[in-house]
Amino acid sequence: MKVIDIIKAKKPSFSFEVFPPKTSANFDSVIAAASEIASLKPSYMSVTYGALGTTASYTAEIAEKISALSVTPVAHLTCVNATRESIVGKLTDLRSRGIENILALRGDLPDGVTPDSLTYKYASDLATEISSFGSFCIGGACYPECHPESENSARDIEGLKRKVESGCEYLTTQMFFDNNILYNFMYRLLRAGVDVPVVAGIMPVTSASQIKRICSISKSALPQRFLRIVDRYGDDPNAMRQAGIAFATEQIIDLYANGVNAVHVYSMNKPDVARELRDNVSEIIK
Ligand code: FAD
Repeated sequence: MKVIDIIKAKKPSFSFEVFPPKTSANFDSVIAAASEIASLKPSYMSVTYGALGTTASYTAEIAEKISALSVTPVAHLTCVNATRESIVGKLTDLRSRGIENILALRGDLPDGVTPDSLTYKYASDLATEISSFGSFCIGGACYPECHPESENSARDIEGLKRKVESGCEYLTTQMFFDNNILYNFMYRLLRAGVDVPVVAGIMPVTSASQIKRICSISKSALPQRFLRIVDRYGDDPNAMRQAGIAFATEQIIDLYANGVNAVHVYSMNKPDVARELRDNVSEIIK
C-alpha cells in the first residue's frame, strides 16, 4: 500500500520508525525488535538508511521483513555519496522486493563537502530520479525549526517547495518538543503554497542520555516544561522513562486533537515504548 493513501484516509495514522544495526552481529536483534513493533499493527513503519553506507544494505532487507508481517514499509534512501548507477540499482532492488514507499533524503554533508560537488545536490534531485524511475510513493523530510544548513526558514521552505514539485507527496518532520512550533510551521508551509500532508515526528525521550544526542542531531528547542522533567527525573531511569512516555503521549493527543492526522514515532527500536504509546492512544487512533 502507498503511504500517501494511508495518511490521506480519515482514520488517524500512527506509525513507527526503526533503524538498521551498525554491524551484522546485531541484525537478528533488530529484526526481533522490528517484528515486535510490527505486531502492534501500526499504520506503516519506516526503516532508516545509513548515510555512510555502514548499515545501508540492511534497510531493504528489514523493510521486506516488515512487509512480510503485513505492515506497509517505507525505506529511507539517501543520495549524498551516491552515483546515478548506485541509485538506480537501489531502486531496482527495492522494487524487486515489493517495496512501494521511499523517504527521499539527501543525508548529512560529510565535513568539507559542499552540495556543488555532488551528483545529487539536494533531496529534490533524488525525488526527481525516483519519480522518473516510476511507481514509488515518495516522501521527504522537513524541519519545523529550520534545517541547520539553511540561512533562514523562508529559504528552507523554498527548498521544501522544490522537493514537493519534484515528486514528494508528503513530508515527515524532524522531532520537535513544542507542538506550537509545528502548528506555526504548517501555517507557513500553507502560505508558501506547500499543501502536501505533514506527518509529525515524535521522539519519546525515555532516558537523560538521549537528550545530548537529540540536541546534536536536531537542534530541537527543548521547552522548559520538558527540561524540568529531565532535571527532576533524569537520574532515575524508571521515573524518566515514565515521564518521557507521558510527555510524548500528551504531545500526540494534542496533535490529533488539533487536526494533525498522521503521527510518526521515532521508536528507537524499543518495542516496549512503542507498545505503551500505542496503548495510551488506542481509543484515539481506532
Ligand atoms: P535537503 O532537502 O536536500 O535539504 C538540505 C539543505 O539544503 C536544507 O538546508 C535545505 O533548505 C537546502 N535545500 C534544499 N533544496 C535546495 C535547493 N534546491 N537549493 C538550495 N538549497 C536547498 N539521515 C540519514 O542519513 N538517514 C536517514 O534514514 C534519515 N532519515 C531522516 C528522516 C527524517 C524524517 C528526517 C527529518 C531526517 C532524516 N535524516 C536521515 C537526516 C537528513 O539526512 C539530514 O537532515 C540532512 O542534512 C538533510 O537531508 P534532507 O533530505 O532534508 O536534505
